[in-house]
Amino acid sequence: MDKQLQQIRKDFPILNQKVNDEPLVYLDNAATSQKPNQVIDEVVRYYKNDNANTRRGVHTLGERATEEFETARQKVQQFINAKESREIIFTKGATDSLNLVASTYGEDNIAAGDEIVISIMEHHSNLIPWQQLANRKKAILKYIGLTADGQLDMEDAKKKITDKTKIVSITHASNVLGVTNDIKQLAQIAHAHKAIMVADGAQAVPHMPVDVQDLNVDFYAFSGHKMLAPMGIGVLYGKADLLKVMSPYQYGGEMIDFVEKYQSTWTDIPWKFEAGTQNVSGAVGLGKAIDYLSSIGMENVENYEKDLVAYVLPKLLEIDGLTVYGPHDADHHSGVISFNLQNLHPHDVATALDMDGVAIRAGHHCAQPLMKYLNLVATARASFYIYNNKQDADELIQAICDTKEFFK
Ligand code: PLP
Repeated sequence: MDKQLQQIRKDFPILNQKVNDEPLVYLDNAATSQKPNQVIDEVVRYYKNDNANTRRGVHTLGERATEEFETARQKVQQFINAKESREIIFTKGATDSLNLVASTYGEDNIAAGDEIVISIMEHHSNLIPWQQLANRKKAILKYIGLTADGQLDMEDAKKKITDKTKIVSITHASNVLGVTNDIKQLAQIAHAHKAIMVADGAQAVPHMPVDVQDLNVDFYAFSGHKMLAPMGIGVLYGKADLLKVMSPYQYGGEMIDFVEKYQSTWTDIPWKFEAGTQNVSGAVGLGKAIDYLSSIGMENVENYEKDLVAYVLPKLLEIDGLTVYGPHDADHHSGVISFNLQNLHPHDVATALDMDGVAIRAGHHCAQPLMKYLNLVATARASFYIYNNKQDADELIQAICDTKEFFK
């Protein structure tokens, strides 16, 4: 695996540069991942040879573009083990996917007094769509809390999810606390109360094997750009039985069956949810990213990142005045590590690290209710991916120590 990873690094041209005269150490993967040559070249190949609008032209390029788009859909289906490719809807990203569910399934099925259950660790993309739906419908939004070490409180989940609950929507992996949630068990609890289970997989699909049938989720959302693919392409998985009866998300383009002056009917799933010209090059790039990750193997990806966390987390915890949020035990912590340095604003920390060529993120990470819950304004966040290595981890530790020294 290590030898394979030396090769992997070479596949990412952007990593081979200096920032502020220092070799770039890219540790902002939770925000977006870098792209390998294979994905970049595939997008260029598509535009140079096959570009056309899908499902419209009977000409050869139109047919090729349509075929490539549908092939990408099949790759996604296999990657997350969906039962059928028509259960895969292409979207702009996880945010778009979650908004789709809230404004179609949610709009059709939520009434005054119904309950929607999310958690306090949600990214705004899995919070605001439900909050606004609840406000529109006079429904009740409930939040599952955390245990003392920052994990989802499953006892609280069992109390909050009741027969009044219609939708449970929880992140599979947190973009702040570095925890992975037991979506399978949450789905069991939700289904026992006849609620549907939605999972936000934006931080999970890039980093671990995901099997939507095994999780038994009703909807599952994720983004391409966090898993080596271009920006602007994402996925919503939905069970066919639910998708078939849901209202469309947007109207226009090829999502129709028949249009009359005052009435229209809709085409089959998944196209019913894909109004307007689609991001075909993005889907083709996502298909290539899936090939790339599959050639490494998602279990290898997961284990490699676990080893990196087991290496870097204890070193971070040893730094005097540094607080890590979420579990301190490497077995329960993903490659997303949020921290603060005593008496320093995380923005100053991130700026100082950038001077050393180390790219991390600072802010509320689109999780303001979580920040409030933790009594914080912001954190610094380092996040790892397959092309990072122990040397990157050492550079991070060194840059943090230099920063501490600089501000002393
Ligand atoms: N959910 C989580 C947990 C995330 O970390 C993110 C992005 O950071 C999103 C949703 C939204 O993803 P996108 O901006 O690609 O739609």
